[in-house]
Amino acid sequence: MIKVKFLERPNLNLWEKVFFLDFINGLKVTFKNLLRKTITTKYPYEKLTPPKRFRGVHAHRVKDGQEPPSFAVLGKFMEINYDESRCVACYMCQQACPMPTLFKIEAVQLPNGKKRVTKFEMNLLNCLYCGLCVDACPVDCLIMTDIYESANYHRKNCVIHMEDMSDRGRDFDRRRKQEKDRIWIDDQERTKLWGQIRWT
Ligand code: SF4
Ligand code: SF4
Repeated sequence: MIKVKFLERPNLNLWEKVFFLDFINGLKVTFKNLLRKTITTKYPYEKLTPPKRFRGVHAHRVKDGQEPPSFAVLGKFMEINYDESRCVACYMCQQACPMPTLFKIEAVQLPNGKKRVTKFEMNLLNCLYCGLCVDACPVDCLIMTDIYESANYHRKNCVIHMEDMSDRGRDFDRRRKQEKDRIWIDDQERTKLWGQIRWT
């Protein structure tokens, strides 16, 4: 049997009953917010740039002389030209992913004994955008960018490939690599949008 729980009606005094004081208090909040600057934007006409550490569409960093020290070791076994994806086909990203089947990574061994990546695909339809793959990459190749518009009319277009990932990685680094790794682009902009945050 379903039990119905009744809440006790509040005992209102005469003033509250006659002048609808609670109603007026509610309206006060409405009017206060009516005069505040809005924090929403008119998307898609206005677009915010997300923070640098935003987890958007994936990209590959290329071999550009700024690789982490681990690349000096792993890269020795790879045939990677300058300005090409610095992926060393270690499969660590795939291992770390809760949905490993979304990756398709292939590499071949060349006659000189080195390895070359021939395929790196990700089906973003299955992606949770959790970022575990990025953390697992030992050579800082796989990154997530500030690009959040990834909707497509065709499922096949949701599969990203190594070439477009490298292009996206070059573009992201050109625009934002020098930027400080902070949550907001700049504190003034954040304060303007959201007001001053009190952390305590
Ligand atoms: S963001 Fe998460 S779900 Fe998406 S590919 Fe990386 S690890 Fe997998
Ligand atoms: S973890 Fe990095 S280097 Fe290894 S396969 Fe994935 S993207 Fe390539």
